[in-house]
Amino acid sequence: MVRKARVMRVSGEPGEEGVVEAARVLNAGGLVAFPTETVYGLGAVGLDADAVRKIFEAKGRPATNPVILHVADIEGAKRVVAEWPEAAQRLAERFWPGPLTIVAKKAAEVPSVVCAGLDTVAVRVPDHPVAQALLREVGVPLAAPSANPYTRVSPTTAEHVVRGMGGAVDLVLDGGPTAVGIESTLVSVVEDPPVVLREGMIGVMALREVVPDVQSSPSPVVLGDDRAHPSPGLAAVHYSPGVPVRLVEEVPDLVGGGVICRGSEVGAQTRATVRVLPDDAEGYARGLYSALHELEAIGVTEIAVVAPPRAPGWEAIWDRLRRSAGSEEGDDGQG
Ligand code: AMP
Ligand code: MG
Repeated sequence: MVRKARVMRVSGEPGEEGVVEAARVLNAGGLVAFPTETVYGLGAVGLDADAVRKIFEAKGRPATNPVILHVADIEGAKRVVAEWPEAAQRLAERFWPGPLTIVAKKAAEVPSVVCAGLDTVAVRVPDHPVAQALLREVGVPLAAPSANPYTRVSPTTAEHVVRGMGGAVDLVLDGGPTAVGIESTLVSVVEDPPVVLREGMIGVMALREVVPDVQSSPSPVVLGDDRAHPSPGLAAVHYSPGVPVRLVEEVPDLVGGGVICRGSEVGAQTRATVRVLPDDAEGYARGLYSALHELEAIGVTEIAVVAPPRAPGWEAIWDRLRRSAGSEEGDDGQG
């Protein structure tokens, strides 16, 4: 029989039963899934190499893909890095706690398994009461990639974690659906000027308000209206076993399939199971993974995603959609 995950409801008050129990499990070397404002993380004590190895095992994640350290505040971040450039300080002061991850030279005490053998470490201060309460209760950095099996969609609810990870995680803290919905923006301050390694809802323009010369992601993410179709991003490829995702220009009629579109696109005739997302980028990002998870759980044969606007503010969403459609390697083989 497959072991079922243990779940505790939490709100993030200090001293709360679930938070105290989670800290106990973590300090004993266990794995705890917890909510952050981006997606649910699969946490282990980040300075305990054996505990961090369990994350890789539980996810089936290759050891070559480093994980993010979560800390309670800027002081906590400085303890896991060897260098903290002025750009890092400015970004941290402006965007932490929040969905921004900073990559810097690692401190010696950070186990190499966390960094996949690199001499850099990714660190973030999450903006979620449960993540904050947990970090303060444990008192050490928590390594926490998204709490999904490798190649699958990141979880935005505790239910997604339970369905995906089952008994591979010792405890799941259920703090409700996450607010941002997609993974953090990743910026490296190892280079000067700093460079965006992964798009997130904090866009490069926002980063440039505090560090004007931040370089955008090496792979182009803003698609112009003049963009030639069909692009690689419109290809039909699997994002997870059994459920291909493809990008389409309008709501298709799919028997047995699923469609994700925006409110303004509803009304088209289709026999597909339709999940409607808000018209604005923030709302769309918040609901996207949940829509993918729901359609997958229903057992649709394929998922067609109606292309959202190719406009500023939608870069990170386009990045994840392209990864879902299999045209790019994602963080987990999938974003
Ligand atoms: P996840 O938490 O599953 O979204 O994955 C963490 C992301 O951070 C992946 O894209 C990793 O490749 C990236 N990452 C973690 N540590 C580093 C690092 N030291 N240098 C560059 N990227 C990193
Ligand atoms: Mg991930």
